[in-house]
Formats: sequence, structure tokens, C-alpha cells
Amino acid sequence: MQDFVSREKSRLLEDLKSWLRIPSISTLPENAGDCRKAAEWLAARLKKLGFQVNTIETDRHPILWAEGPAVPGAPTVLSYGHYDVQPPDPLNEWVTGPFEPTERNGNLYARGTADDKGQVFCVVSAVEALQANGGLPVNMRFLIEGEEEIGSKGLTKFLKAEPDRVKADAVLVTDVHMVAPGYPSVDTALRGIVHAEIKVRTLKKDLHSGLYGGAAPNAIETLWHLLEQLKPPTGTMRIPGFYDRVAKPSARELKAWKALPVTERGFIKEAGAKALGGEKKFSFLERVWARPTFEVHGIVGGFQGAGAKTVIPAEATAKCSLRLVPKQRAADAAAQLKKAVKKFAPKYAEVSVEILSTADPVETPLEAWPFEVLDKAYREVWKRGIAPIRSGGSIPIVPLLQQRKAPVLLTGIGLPDDGLHAPNEKLTLEQLWKGIPLFARFLQLMGERGGK
Ligand SMILES: [Zn+2]
Repeated sequence: MQDFVSREKSRLLEDLKSWLRIPSISTLPENAGDCRKAAEWLAARLKKLGFQVNTIETDRHPILWAEGPAVPGAPTVLSYGHYDVQPPDPLNEWVTGPFEPTERNGNLYARGTADDKGQVFCVVSAVEALQANGGLPVNMRFLIEGEEEIGSKGLTKFLKAEPDRVKADAVLVTDVHMVAPGYPSVDTALRGIVHAEIKVRTLKKDLHSGLYGGAAPNAIETLWHLLEQLKPPTGTMRIPGFYDRVAKPSARELKAWKALPVTERGFIKEAGAKALGGEKKFSFLERVWARPTFEVHGIVGGFQGAGAKTVIPAEATAKCSLRLVPKQRAADAAAQLKKAVKKFAPKYAEVSVEILSTADPVETPLEAWPFEVLDKAYREVWKRGIAPIRSGGSIPIVPLLQQRKAPVLLTGIGLPDDGLHAPNEKLTLEQLWKGIPLFARFLQLMGERGGK
């Protein structure tokens, strides 16, 4: 397989660049045509590799469903990823244009390199390598969507209507990263999410802060007291019932995390912080992987323009989210949040909580046999087996990928410093060149195990 990479490297790189040049930003209506173009690009590629490709229309951006040549008796592997990307703002922070893929210091810079076009391209190229070496050893399927960055609405509808699409021996989700360079990993859990807006109204209209200040209730001030009631500086939320189902990581997990080449100091540096916040009695890994949290993303209200305006705001909104850990349920957490806001709100304020979206947390225990196969492939190609880690992030579609009981393998060739959703997103090219033989070997070993 390494021969294939050495031989085809420069062409593969040019091919990936041409895909990255398509600005498939799913959230912006003006880029809808580009999303379709990015889907067509991939469809053409898969067709060239002998796949039957169906383009499934949604309310917004199409889903690709692709089936490789039938391999009777062999296992079925489904590969999930997405071709849509986040907006590139702030543009002036990019060293080179977000849609002008550029190589620097062994990295390829562009929006979508790591999240997720580069990783999808890696698996597709592994398939190409196998086709060039005698054919595919498994029944291969691709399910690639264009709405991951905006909540996967179309795919959710599709997989609810057609749950058998995810019947497979293994589902490969290459939309995550390795825990550190040289340390392949698999996520055994993802946090869930409850996205909400908390709105506070204290007056009919904004008032003069001189004539009314000191007596009239200020909506922003009321909101910050409310937020502090929900999450005091200890970092432990005061939402009744919220922690009832929070499960502790197993002793085995905690031991494995201790052996990882990541440190609190490195984490602080990577975050660009001076020190950590949150629940001091838990390690930083537990805080981001195994504890639920509440974050405020923005506060809207009052005067936001340049200069001064002496006003008492009548209304204020906090955009916020809860992240949930295994055994918690998003619907319960949303109800608990609503109740807690009511409980802590002062009598003089009108408060409301709007739930924008939710996703349950996910567990993918490593017991199923395809994890052994993946571990073996990494040991052969990367010279190190997989480390079980967790992700603090959420991939809302995973519960539906699990609905026919297929083990979901959350693994990837990205690195923690790839800059997802941020300026100067990159993919380290060495990771791509090692990732192609890795996934090719994984598929070969899956084929050798047979349909067990
Ligand atoms: Zn992604």
C-alpha cells in the first residue's frame, strides 16, 4: 500500500486541493451551489472507483450514498463523513486564503482539510489503493452528508426513514482526531448537547440610567445573577437533578488516560489560557471528557455600538449550551434547565428558555471485534495500538448510526492542533500519507476475519 502512496502522492494531493477549493459552507445560503458541487466532486470520484452512487436530496444539501462492488460473504463496512465546512471567518487571520489550499511546513492549510474533507479523502484513497491492488475485500459503503456543521437535519430524517442503511459489521466515523502525534486513539464516548437561549425581560422599554438607575431592574444584571446561580465559580452546576445519572469513568479508563502523552500544562498552552477554570477536584481530562458542563456563548442586550449610551436594558439574552455525559438524557437536561431558570429568576423578571437543538451523549465501548481489527491495523502501520479516549464534543448523528447495533469506530488521522472551525485549519500531510495504508489495511483485515 505504501507503494501506491509513493507513486500517487502528488496527484492525490492535487485532487484533494481541487475538492478543498470548493467553498462548501453549509450554513450560508449563497454557498448552496458550492455544497452541491462538493457533493458532485465526491460522487464522480466514487463512481470512478466502481461505486454505485445515489444522490439523496434533502431540504438543503444532498447526501451521498455509495455502494462498492458486492463481495459475497465478506463483512460490510460503512464509512461516514461530511463534505460541508464551517464559515472561514475571521478572514484576516488566515495566512493564506481558506479556499486556496497551500502547503507549509509539511501541512496543508485550507478550510475542510481536517474537518472533514481531508479525512473522507483519506478513506476514499484507501479504497483506491485496494482497487489498484486487486480489489476491495469488504462490502464497502459511503454515507457522506453536507449538513454536519448545521445539525444533520436531512440525514437524521433519512436514517429515521431508512434505518437499515446503517446495517453493517462496522461503521467508521473519521470525523475526530488522534489524542497526540504518534498516538492513535478511538473515542469511547462523546458528550451530548442542549443548545438554549435564556431570555430575561425586566422593563417595558430601555430607560435612562441617570433618571432610573439604582432603582429600575436591569435585564443584563438580572441575567448575570441568574447565570451565576446556575453555575457558580466552583464550576459545579446548581441545576436540581442534573448530576443524578452522571457516571464515573471506569478505573480502567482513568488508568489509560493517565498513560496518555497529554499534560495539564500542555492543555493550558494549547488553549492559550493562563490557568484552568471549572471543577478543581477533577483532572482536566475528566473535566472535558467525563463531566457535564454549561457554557455561555454570547450575551445579547443593551447597547453594543461604539461610544457611550447610558441606558438600562429592558431585555437580555444568553446563548448557551449544556454538554452532557453518558447516561444523561438531553430531553431530561433541557427540562431541568428550564425548571432551574424558573426557580432562580427574581419575581420582577420575565424569563424564558428556548431549546434550539439537542443531542444525546454517546457510548461506543471497545468490546466489539472490529475494534481489535482496527487496533491490529494501527499496530502494523502506525507501530502503536489504539488508546481509548473520549471526546468532549458532540456528533449528533452517531446515535442513529448505532441504531442497528453496528459498532461505531470513532477514529481519525487529524491532530489536536488542526484548528477546526478556526483560522488556518490544517491537515498534517504525513498523517494523510500514513492514513491511506492504515485504512486500506483495516479493510483488508476486516475482509480476512470474514462475516463473523
Ligand atoms: Zn466535522
